[in-house]
Amino acid sequence: MADLMESLTSLAKRRGIAFPSSEIYGGLRSSWDYGPLGVELRNNIRRAWWRSMVQLRDDVVGLEAAILMSPRVWEASGHVAGFSDPLVECLNCHQRFRQDQLEGPVCPNCGQKEFTEPKQFNLMFKTFMGPVEEDAAVVYLRPETAQGMFVDFRTIQQASRMKVPFGIAQIGKSFRNEITPSNFIFRTREFELMEVEYFVEPGTDEKWFEYWKEQRLQWFVDLGVRPEKLRIRAHEPDELAHYAKAAADIEYEFPFGWSELEGIANRADFDLRQHQEASGEDLTYFDQENERRYLPFVVEPALGVDRALLVFLLDAYRVGEAPSAKGEMERRTLLALHKDLAPTKVAVLPLSRNETLVPEARRVHGLLKPRWPTAYDDAGAIGRRYRRQDEVGTPFCVTLDFDSLTDRQVTVRERDSMQQDRVSIDMLSDYLQERLGP
Ligand code: ATP
Repeated sequence: MADLMESLTSLAKRRGIAFPSSEIYGGLRSSWDYGPLGVELRNNIRRAWWRSMVQLRDDVVGLEAAILMSPRVWEASGHVAGFSDPLVECLNCHQRFRQDQLEGPVCPNCGQKEFTEPKQFNLMFKTFMGPVEEDAAVVYLRPETAQGMFVDFRTIQQASRMKVPFGIAQIGKSFRNEITPSNFIFRTREFELMEVEYFVEPGTDEKWFEYWKEQRLQWFVDLGVRPEKLRIRAHEPDELAHYAKAAADIEYEFPFGWSELEGIANRADFDLRQHQEASGEDLTYFDQENERRYLPFVVEPALGVDRALLVFLLDAYRVGEAPSAKGEMERRTLLALHKDLAPTKVAVLPLSRNETLVPEARRVHGLLKPRWPTAYDDAGAIGRRYRRQDEVGTPFCVTLDFDSLTDRQVTVRERDSMQQDRVSIDMLSDYLQERLGP
């Protein structure tokens, strides 16, 4: 199974989905760049999330807060004092590890069993604001987007006239100086979060916590992730983060075992209370119907774009067989991505580079391109071109052959079933629209 990570990492690099950052300089461990298809895939993930969390709902609004915030935010939120992991160093090989991630007291690098005492290592990246590098100028790169929603809570509530229960959604880069980044894009030091802080009346928080767990699990299933690969795991009291009253992870069965895909936390009124006290500003909400003022509780679903992308790729990766042009069975690598996630929706493939076929194929390409991300490929044998599209999850291939020039029809091949339909060029957009959506 571990091979799957290797096969996927190599496919991701070969096809320009994701690859190590600054690679010509040997890379920067744990930083990854996303190439042309990776960018499309990320955009599609963000879009699917935003659509389900904001666009289709009446009770969630958006925010894009700055990455650099007042350092007082991170003091009040408890991150300066408490956002840390236990760091230990192997006494033999001096490699450093997160104590809570060691499997037993054995060094994964050299096998020895003696470590230093654990030391709390703060995960926030620090930098300086302005021209003077002094303590007073320290600012942090945000380790989560959530604090933007808390400090802007009152402004957004008043501007949007939202009534509790309501949520604020944000997608944005976050940074954590992880001790042990690992497993391709699973754990990196720079990543992108998609979070909703959902503000509720105290006492209704447990109901909403249950609600969001179900909603979020369903989102992955709706986007094609196999349900048997997903589960919800409640946090034990001793693993709860400093701000959480309760928390649960949606876990996925990765090739390296069941691990967190998304976190759902009941943060109670921890954050608003801390910011109210530290800033001296009144952050209470006035419930007009019941003429009552209170600090809302907060339920937070938080998912990394990068980790979601890894799961969508892993779950969609299939190796099978398909007949070649000569009728022999060939290996076929397939990304069975949900149509909403697929980076390219359609590929137009003239049967050959024939001089009458190519302009017609270009015309069909031009017809589809404004509607969907559409590829054009006329290089090499048609079977190989199908394989190239299968491997990056393109749901439909449109082939023009010599008959197309007279009967004005093309062959549309569906990725998963490999079934082929003959469709008239005039009806092609409608045909695809029915299957791909707008
Ligand atoms: P862990 O204990 O595994 O380090 P955490 O429980 O602190 O992680 P959360 O704060 O719950 O993580 O993060 C919410 C979500 O953000 C995670 O479920 C994951 O999707 C994503 N995420 C968190 N840290 C990283 C990271 N270093 N790299 C990529 N994605 C991350």
